[in-house]
Amino acid sequence: MLIVQKYGGTSVGTLERIRAVADRVIESKQNGNDLVVVVSAMSGETNKLIEYAEFFTKTPSQAEMDILLSAGERVTSALLAIALNELGFPSVAMSGRQAGIITDGFHTKARINHIDTTFIKEALDNGKIVVVAGFQGVTKEGRVTTLGRGGSDLSAVAIAGALEADLCEIFTDVDGVYTTDPRIEPKAKKLDKISYDEMLELASLGAKVLQNRSVELAKKLNVNLITRSSFNKNEGTLITKEENIMEQAIVSGIALDKNQARITLRGVVDKPGIAASIFKKLADNNINVDMIIQNVGVDGTTNLGFTVPQNELEFAKKIMEELQSSEKLEYDNDIVKVSIVGVGMKSHSGVAAMAFSALANENINIEMISTSEIKISMVIQAKYGELAVRALHKAYRLDK
Ligand code: ADP
Ligand code: ASP
Ligand code: MG
Repeated sequence: MLIVQKYGGTSVGTLERIRAVADRVIESKQNGNDLVVVVSAMSGETNKLIEYAEFFTKTPSQAEMDILLSAGERVTSALLAIALNELGFPSVAMSGRQAGIITDGFHTKARINHIDTTFIKEALDNGKIVVVAGFQGVTKEGRVTTLGRGGSDLSAVAIAGALEADLCEIFTDVDGVYTTDPRIEPKAKKLDKISYDEMLELASLGAKVLQNRSVELAKKLNVNLITRSSFNKNEGTLITKEENIMEQAIVSGIALDKNQARITLRGVVDKPGIAASIFKKLADNNINVDMIIQNVGVDGTTNLGFTVPQNELEFAKKIMEELQSSEKLEYDNDIVKVSIVGVGMKSHSGVAAMAFSALANENINIEMISTSEIKISMVIQAKYGELAVRALHKAYRLDK
């Protein structure tokens, strides 16, 4: 089989762990598989590099950020290849550029346009284990880009898709996808299978066990995706088509997104075109606006509230203050978004009501709500985030 394996930050967090990864890679190679291994930066490394840049400015130039951040993954890819070679298994390390990962030019969250697999295939044909630095690519003009936080998952899925690999295994520090983050609710249960759509929602809503764009791509390219632990041999979770899952739960999981901030614009003139001008400008700058609430207007003016990722707040502020006078603007970093996800919601009523009463019972005020066919999201005060997750987990009996 041709297998793409990806090892996350904790799994390559120390030199000893990199050696343990080498052993695991070798085991799969000895079972007769061809292997492409994608690695993340050692845990904490990317954050450390971001802090270095923030010593100088809160809004560093994005192209330079990409050169900086891509270095973390290159370190691990080289170390793992060195370890494998030393253990007698010919291996070659590749940066995103060498691996042929061509992206668009949106620095710090580039999209992969195309993968030129020539170099990878050549190395595989020569019997080598290919170790690719995750999270990065290069534009067609040759500028280094990164793929957004958690982007090594995307590298792995994209390579698996391009090579038509038989399997893409995401090795991480938990046994698979759980009904909620097991660090928040120890009673969370591991799921054997989950549909692409549910996983995509959970990932988009804060469950960082898989990066959302990697799930989106896995669905599109029909990649066989498994997440499992790099620390044990347990089975893991298969992410697959909805029709492959026999029994659908009404609610499959709960997600908590702490990377949220709210911008409120007070006293905007209630006339056509205002929202359009604001959201167009934010979109042009590639800022992901999420929940939007506009109040009923009074005396010709209204309030407009929306959320953006916390790490994009500084950029969003800059843009908003070009459009509106700053006394009308308010920022709130002290919020989180808690969400419930399940395809079974499509055919059941009362799911939302149950969520609202679960939070009410804990005296948690819901500040914003948004829903789709398979999810309900609520913005609440940050300090209640984990309590809300546990309350919802219990209300939907996910611990049973
Ligand atoms: P890696 O470094 O391997 O990419 P991440 O830290 O990005 O790992 O993702 C794994 C983490 O995701 C787990 O340690 C866990 O705390 C968190 N997580 C959040 N939601 C879930 C969930 N529903 N199931 C499993 N893990 C989750
Ligand atoms: N190192 C990058 C991050 O921390 C990418 C990844 O780990 O997937 O976001
Ligand atoms: Mg990750």
